[in-house]
Amino acid sequence: MAEWTDLRSMNMEELSQCLLENGEKRFRAKQIYEWLHKKLVRTPEEMKNVPAKCREKLILEHPLYGVTEVERYVSKIDGTMKFLFALHDGNMIESVLMKYKHGNSVCISSQAGCRMGCRFCASTLMGLARNLYPSEMLDQIYAIQKATGERVSHVVVMGTGEPFDNFDALSRMIEMLCDSDGLNIGHRNITVSTCGIVPKIYEFADTHPQITLAISLHAPDDALRKTLMPIANRYSMEELMKAARYYVSRTGRRITFEYSLVKDVNDKKEHADKLTALVKGMNCHINLIPVNPVKERGYQQSEQNNVAAFMHMLKQQHIQVTVRREMGRDISAACGQLRKRYKERSEEE
Ligand code: SAH
Repeated sequence: MAEWTDLRSMNMEELSQCLLENGEKRFRAKQIYEWLHKKLVRTPEEMKNVPAKCREKLILEHPLYGVTEVERYVSKIDGTMKFLFALHDGNMIESVLMKYKHGNSVCISSQAGCRMGCRFCASTLMGLARNLYPSEMLDQIYAIQKATGERVSHVVVMGTGEPFDNFDALSRMIEMLCDSDGLNIGHRNITVSTCGIVPKIYEFADTHPQITLAISLHAPDDALRKTLMPIANRYSMEELMKAARYYVSRTGRRITFEYSLVKDVNDKKEHADKLTALVKGMNCHINLIPVNPVKERGYQQSEQNNVAAFMHMLKQQHIQVTVRREMGRDISAACGQLRKRYKERSEEE
């Protein structure tokens, strides 16, 4: 028995099995799968060549879960769009569409809320509500493609939640996203970001060697990382870097380290030097993110010249480094703020 029994989370094999058990022909599974994952219908009634009786019976046992748009913000600067979506049980999540020269990228959430507790992050302030189903991760992409008419070519799992804390649903989502009977997105166009759940990094390298991995580092040593990220109490920097090296050697791919620059906390020369020593010789790329201030947290963004200086120090040591381009600055709310604002508003009412 599969772990998820809602219609949009079922893969072709499960769908075929279920239809055969209901006395239907095998070709129906492909028809239904394509309506859901290629033609991106929002309701069962839109599956025109599937008899109503078959649809109704199926939906009784396998509800159609997905996302419903509640709010949308569009950047006047670069067209970036932020979406607030409702889930069937009233939980809220958010997703972002970014338009680049190389294509359209959607940033999706993997959980409603998060339990990792990173000190600078808004997504974790209210804890974890629940894991998302594969359908709910997929449907953030489907709903955006359908609503905007923009073909999505890249997916980054960097929204609310820790994807490796919802590993099985993440794996199923990737499998279905890359399916030629679905959106057929290239494995290489998918990036997953983790705060560093070490055993899952090994598992991910083994099971998804074509997916790009980003690790949220944010500090160059254990002591400082512990003050920013509780996960650092669980896994040491040494264990984390060993896992990162395993990913690189196992997959032959470059790994990304995210490093959010927080004023006077991790943006000094000593930090750049330690970071250099940590990653020297490794096939990696460092993505510097001027921290997005979250009002409850009290951390400030590093000044622009400090960001530039930090980047320069790494470059001088031949470390590949970029500063993350801020997209949709005018609609910017740091990760998880849309959802949080919505929740606060509805509690006031
Ligand atoms: N849980 C995953 C993915 C979600 S967060 C992870 O930790 O990687 C995506 C990235 O945004 C992470 O690198 C996270 O540390 C970073 N982030 C979260 N809040 C931020 C903030 N206020 N400013 C800058 N980066 C932030």
